[in-house]
Amino acid sequence: MNALAATSRNFKQAAKLLGLDSKLEKSLLIPFREIKVECTIPKDDGTLASYVGFRVQHDNARGPMKGGIRYHHEVDPDEVNALAQLMTWKTAVANIPYGGAKGGIGCSPGDLSISELERLTRVFTQKIHDLIGIHTDVPAPDMGTNAQTMAWILDEYSKFHGYSPAVVTGKPVDLGGSLGRDAATGRGVLFATEALLAEHGKGIAGQRFVIQGFGNVGSWAAQLITEAGGKVIAISDVTGAVKNSNGIDIAKLMKHSAENRGIKGFDGGDAVDPTSLLTEECDVLIPAALGGVINNGEMYMFVVQILAKKGVLILPDILANSGGVTVSYFEWVQNIQGFMWDEEKVNRELKTYMTRAFRDTKEMCRSHHCDLRMGAFTLGVNRVARATVLRGWEA
Ligand code: GLU
Repeated sequence: MNALAATSRNFKQAAKLLGLDSKLEKSLLIPFREIKVECTIPKDDGTLASYVGFRVQHDNARGPMKGGIRYHHEVDPDEVNALAQLMTWKTAVANIPYGGAKGGIGCSPGDLSISELERLTRVFTQKIHDLIGIHTDVPAPDMGTNAQTMAWILDEYSKFHGYSPAVVTGKPVDLGGSLGRDAATGRGVLFATEALLAEHGKGIAGQRFVIQGFGNVGSWAAQLITEAGGKVIAISDVTGAVKNSNGIDIAKLMKHSAENRGIKGFDGGDAVDPTSLLTEECDVLIPAALGGVINNGEMYMFVVQILAKKGVLILPDILANSGGVTVSYFEWVQNIQGFMWDEEKVNRELKTYMTRAFRDTKEMCRSHHCDLRMGAFTLGVNRVARATVLRGWEA
């Protein structure tokens, strides 16, 4: 099952549990706008190269559309569509005043030079600048993009519209980015996990964690979990996986991964098959790799059954990874206010938002007799449905 079919299936299940009207259900599912642009750039060697860029704006009932832009060779319209839809439910679960969007360019960023990446980002921005904006659609980093990418978008956008720092989030701090944004998704994972464990009378300390993915999210989560006394016993990335039941030395792994472009070859544990991680003995499993690893249809059911038997706790992704977009919201607020928060305030507010999102999700689980995954979907879909109905249908 592809990402869009899996996401839409979760949505439909939630719509059914909520008893949504079928017209409303259809209108919530169909994206508001889908943009596809061709981006041609001169490469460093003088030849021309063309890339396809997408921006799917899924829904704006609760506020400006919001979501990352990813640079990845597998980016395709269906996937971007699914991810845009997930952003709509995610911002609603986090209860921040945004809708959902997602963008991407089908390219291998590792094969492009810095100046090629800059040209590509600028051409993409030229093609979509009329359709994004502080109160319309606010991009952010995602897989394969970072604060520098946002700085180029901001600069290119500002040539057309005047200096507008709030048009993107996840910017460098020197250009109005928020303190704590880089670590935010990983820190959000920590707070959501803390809330989940507290329900079971446990804390992070002493628990065994398995983390799938060691990019921005996985590496921050691993670091923060270790700082909080948790034991990270297995980690994987696209290059390989490592296991150490005494706990992996995260600082050492970070260094190895930076120097070797991945986990492979790390000597602080045993090399294991990355696919075995999903069923590894642990207390908490954190899927922080490419989307849809667990939440996808059949794979989800298979893995969940195994994990449930073992008593492993699973946090739904739209709740667990909402810390990034939540701090993006704080960044946007700071830009609009023209006032910068200190990092302690950012982290404190993030904890409040994550804890509340978890509590609200649990409440939906209780009232709709469903698991955490459906609790998060019903929470998000219900908030968007209410906003849509309140805004009315008249043309
Ligand atoms: N790319 C991140 C996400 O998918 C952050 C999005 C944002 O900050 O707008 O949640």
